Amino acid sequence: MNFYVLTLFPEMVMSGLNTSIIGKGVEKGLLNIEAINIRDYAGNKYGKVDDYPYGGGAGMLMQPGPVYRSYESVVDKIASERPTRVVYLTPTGNVFHQDMAKELAQEENLIFLCGHYEGIDERVLDKIVTDPVSIGDYVLTGGELPAMVMIDAISRFVPGVLKNEVSAETESFHENLLEYPQYTRPEEFMGEKVPEVLLSGHHGKVDAWRREQSLLRTAKFRPDLLKKAELTEKERQFIQKSLENADK
Ligand code: SAM
Repeated sequence: MNFYVLTLFPEMVMSGLNTSIIGKGVEKGLLNIEAINIRDYAGNKYGKVDDYPYGGGAGMLMQPGPVYRSYESVVDKIASERPTRVVYLTPTGNVFHQDMAKELAQEENLIFLCGHYEGIDERVLDKIVTDPVSIGDYVLTGGELPAMVMIDAISRFVPGVLKNEVSAETESFHENLLEYPQYTRPEEFMGEKVPEVLLSGHHGKVDAWRREQSLLRTAKFRPDLLKKAELTEKERQFIQKSLENADK
């Protein structure tokens, strides 16, 4: 899978994605990540890419020309017959989630556009952006961290990137549930023991315990997810009872 990141800070993107699992994915040739410096397409000898907003207001805006030319350079390079999706990182976009990561991982090429300062002239966004995406209800200084967050989450769905393919299927947000608590050695830590059932070697009981823990944790921290989860009547009753007991 190819990720092309249009940015004013290419070194930030590249240094953030060259280690651990994503770095290994790149080494293995499963992922290709390229950062394109929008400033290289400034079209003036000063490398100036921003200007004051029409109508006044605080800060500077990225100008449309350099953004469009940097985009064109990638489109020319990809030379695909299928139009390539362009994700614009913006607090005004749809909020990113696991299903979106899974869906975007089906693409062969993705372009990410990172804003900076007060953002980007709307006209170029209208021309090239297919997917405006926010990573949450807060404002960051630039789109680089959000692009890195998205590339990390999407890459985990690219076959071969995770060693154990099953792990993406058992993690939080799969089937709209949060993951159950996990434990490793030692068996006792600061007086706290690993739950007995996990030492039983009984897979059926372990699975049942994990499912219950997922339900409880989701009910406690993300009740909004539970509304979308497929639960049996028995599971709904179990959650209801546990919540009632917790209130007592
Ligand atoms: N003036 C913009 C607004 O109020 O919506 C915020 C601009 S922000 C300071 C600069 C850039 O950071 C944005 O163009 C965007 O690329 C990125 N950014 C900031 N917060 C973000 C978020 N929550 N999700 C995705 N991108 C974000």
